[in-house]
Amino acid sequence: MAPRHLLPWVLPAFLAFIAACTQDSKPTSHGTESAAASVEISGARAAQAGESVFLSAAVKDSSGVLIPGAVVAWSSSDSSLIEVSASGTVNARRIGTVVLTASSGAVHDTVIFTSSLTPYTFLFADTASQADRQLIRDAVQNAHAFQMATFGKGLTDSTTVFGGFTISGCASPGASAFAGGRTITVCLGNQGWKVHKPVIRQKILQHELFHLWQFKHWSATPATSAAWVMEGSAELMAYRGIAARGLLAFETGLGCQVKESADFASRTPPGLPALSSVEGLQAFQSTQGPLYTHSMLAMNFLTTAGGLTTLRAYGDSVKAGASWQAAFTSAFGKSPATFYGEFPGYVSGLTVPANYLCGI
Ligand SMILES: [Zn+2]
Repeated sequence: MAPRHLLPWVLPAFLAFIAACTQDSKPTSHGTESAAASVEISGARAAQAGESVFLSAAVKDSSGVLIPGAVVAWSSSDSSLIEVSASGTVNARRIGTVVLTASSGAVHDTVIFTSSLTPYTFLFADTASQADRQLIRDAVQNAHAFQMATFGKGLTDSTTVFGGFTISGCASPGASAFAGGRTITVCLGNQGWKVHKPVIRQKILQHELFHLWQFKHWSATPATSAAWVMEGSAELMAYRGIAARGLLAFETGLGCQVKESADFASRTPPGLPALSSVEGLQAFQSTQGPLYTHSMLAMNFLTTAGGLTTLRAYGDSVKAGASWQAAFTSAFGKSPATFYGEFPGYVSGLTVPANYLCGI
């Protein structure tokens, strides 16, 4: 953008400068910059993340007279969040708030500029770190974009993302985040959150945001869909989502799932129960071992042929009133019974990495 805007902006300023020099015989009045006594920014103070808006700055002399073509320099307190070009074009890259400054000569003006993302509202405990806040905002933005890119539809109802330390649903120290209704709650003080590094924290948010997507677009609950399908697809979307952002190669993330599942099986023979026995939420949640991981491998297997859009097809069928088994068969091209028969062979054929590679 910059080169295209720079020329039309600079040229009039330059011509005005020349005009000032040639029309005025007094040598003390060179240029217009030295006459700037005030700058005032006008334009929007907010934008949607991903959008661009335009600001302008009026430069006046000490008499309050506009100085046409005065040179203005723009800057942002954090260009990684919201950047501003030399011509005053504001590019709201990420959700956040910055201070934008327009300077001319020795004077300047500042405005607070905020970018947000509809339909999300973020609420944090006062003691939440800035790093956690921004990571959560970024993760939601990324997850939303990934849902839009994958399915052509995201969340539209107002959705609140909480981050706090003393939240009732966070009673279990191992809980990292959970989704319910139109909210996501992140348990910032729990080990389940704190042990993870930034990329896996982003993965956690992507997982929870896909649950909200399931609630809306599948109208599904574990009562109307197998629990392992819901959890496995949320985990799959999460790893695909962070891969789409270039945060972790999908094959690396997948390798970690394979390793975790295989290690558990060798440590605790015969390993995890058959997925056919954890269709119900209670059975799923009371199972010991890396069942989320195992469920993700299942959903990766099921979506290999048709891609992630089969998750949308599955949900569309469930939402239209089909049983989850019928929806499963039409979306993934095989019945649950056929899948259950094939899955152990798929898992045993996966290459187990020597090490965990995704501890990031
Ligand atoms: Zn989940």
